[in-house]
Amino acid sequence: MRKKIIAGNWKMNKTPAETVALINELKPLVVTEDADVIFCVPAISLTTALEAAKGTNIEIGAQNMYFEESGAFTGEIAPNMLTSIGIKYVIIGHSERREYFAESDVTVNKKVLKAFEHGITPIICCGESLTQREQGITIDWIRQQIKIAFLSVTADQAKTAVIAYEPIWAIGTGKVATTEQAEEVCKAIRECIAEIYDEATAAAIRIQYGGSVTAASAAELFSQADIDGGLVGGASLKADFGKIVNYK
Ligand code: PEP
Repeated sequence: MRKKIIAGNWKMNKTPAETVALINELKPLVVTEDADVIFCVPAISLTTALEAAKGTNIEIGAQNMYFEESGAFTGEIAPNMLTSIGIKYVIIGHSERREYFAESDVTVNKKVLKAFEHGITPIICCGESLTQREQGITIDWIRQQIKIAFLSVTADQAKTAVIAYEPIWAIGTGKVATTEQAEEVCKAIRECIAEIYDEATAAAIRIQYGGSVTAASAAELFSQADIDGGLVGGASLKADFGKIVNYK
């Protein structure tokens, strides 16, 4: 039985002081034993967020990480910088990183491998554009993203990974994929993992849906057979996130 995992992607929002205030507001609302709850906050607030979330069920995650150990990579964050402060999750390959910061399937794979090397759980994002969906190539596209993201990843590592299926046309648009659309792709992702590895790995890996999830849509989405929770942007910055986490 897979435990649900519900992560908030705060994106480029909240100063460190505002982060503390929001965590204090949300912490009584996101109490649950049924799901892992992760707040992925801006890098500058990771330490403050860890402190604010101490003693709660909230885990703090990063939104990005570089695939080298250290050196002349101005502006980047090394994996051991995350582990040294106690970060256990990192979002990799969000569509905004792919679109605005030229991340590719190849760099996603490098980051995934590096995260595993350091014992950090990657939340690996994939998703199709509206054009790709209209062209009928959604599943082919997602399978390619998954196959490249998992190159050289072992089955034991893959079992612990989190995949976030996020149709790009649904991110920040208020347009949620239908339950059928979301389940169809999440099921196809699980089948792809079974093909790459085996049934046991496919049964263990957790797959989230992301894209304009709200308190109103969470229950139906998260009760699908292949959807193990969500990656939530806008609604993770509001009290609504408590309702999403406690969607049942
Ligand atoms: C996201 O940023 O991963 C996301 C799903 O955003 P939103 O929920 O705002 O669509």
